[in-house]
Amino acid sequence: MNPSGVDKYAFETGVYRPPSEGGSDSLLIRLTRNCPWNHCTFCGMYKTEKFQVRSVEEIKGDINAMAALRDDLATLSPGATVSHDGAMALIGKYPELNHHPGFAMFYHWLLSGGQTAFLQDANSLIMKTGQLVEVLEHLRHTFPSIVRVTTYARAKTIVQKSLDDLKAIRAAGLDRLHVGLESGDDEVLHKVRKGATAEIHIEGGRKALAAGFQLSEYWMPGLGGKALWEQHARNTARVLNEIDPHYIRSRPMRPWPGTPLAREAADGAFEMLTPAGQLRELRLTMAELSVTGRVCFDHAGNYWKNSRGRHLFSHSYEGYRFPQEKQLVLDLIDEGLKVGGQ
Ligand code: SF4
Repeated sequence: MNPSGVDKYAFETGVYRPPSEGGSDSLLIRLTRNCPWNHCTFCGMYKTEKFQVRSVEEIKGDINAMAALRDDLATLSPGATVSHDGAMALIGKYPELNHHPGFAMFYHWLLSGGQTAFLQDANSLIMKTGQLVEVLEHLRHTFPSIVRVTTYARAKTIVQKSLDDLKAIRAAGLDRLHVGLESGDDEVLHKVRKGATAEIHIEGGRKALAAGFQLSEYWMPGLGGKALWEQHARNTARVLNEIDPHYIRSRPMRPWPGTPLAREAADGAFEMLTPAGQLRELRLTMAELSVTGRVCFDHAGNYWKNSRGRHLFSHSYEGYRFPQEKQLVLDLIDEGLKVGGQ
C-alpha cells in the first residue's frame, strides 16, 4: 500500500557528511546506519549505535519519497520551479513537515540546483555490489540533475572488493570516495585502532583510482602526539605520495569527549601537541609531499591564525594545487609559526 498524507514524504537522514558535501548542499541518502568498524579511538561519531545495512527496498523507498516531495513542492510553486512560496504552501498543508528531519536539507538541495549527493553513513561500499549498483541507478534515474555522487569508504573494504565490482559501482554513478587515512604510520594506525595498515591504505587508494574514482584522503595532523609526531608526518607524506589522490584533506586531531583517545589525553597517556607543535608537524608533512592533487584545509578544525588574526589557510573545498602551490603553503605555515598563541 502506498503511504498517504505526509507519510508519503518519509525518508531517513543520517547525521554525518564531509564538510565539502555540506558546503555544496549535497543531498543526503542513507544507505547504511553507523560504522561497521567503530573501533577508532579518536572517533565519537557512532559509538553508541549499531551498524546496519538498509535494504534496497527501503533506500529506494526513501528516494521515491524525496521525488514525491520534489514534485509536490514544484506543483505548489509559481512557475512550477521549487520556491519559498511552494515550500510555505506545502508546510501549510502538512505542518508536520516542520519536524521532518530531512525536509530542510532536501529543500535547500533543490534550491541549490540539485547537483551533488552524498551516500551515508560511514562505509557505503560494504553493501553488496549488485545492491549498491541498483540504488545508484535508481538515484541517478530519479534525479537526473545530479552531476556528482560521493560517499565515505574504508580502505580495507576497497581492497576486499574486486576491481570489476569497483568499476561497476563507478559506472553506476558513484564518482568520489572519501577515505579516512588518518596516518600513514603503522604504529600510529595500530595505536588508534584504525583497522588498516599503511600498506592497506596504499593498495585501497590505488585500486580506487584504477577503478576510475576521484579520491579524497583525510589525514589527522597531531594524531601521533608528542611521542610519534615525526614518524606520523613522514610516513603520512610517504603513503600519500604513493597513492597520489585527487584530494588530501586535513582534519586536525582534537580530543572528542567520551572517546578512548580523549581519556588517554586527560590522564597523560597521550601527550597532545601544542597548536604550534601541530603546525611544525604539518610543515614537515607538506615539505615531504610530492603529489599532483589538491591539499585542502576545509575542515573547521584547521583553526590556526595568520598575523592578521584570520584563518591561516583558505578553507576552500578545492584547496591548494600541488606542486604549484606547495611553496605558498609552506610560507603560510612559516607565517603561522611566527604568530604567538598558537
Ligand atoms: S572507520 Fe571512520 S566512522 Fe568508523 S570508527 Fe573509524 S573514523 Fe569513526
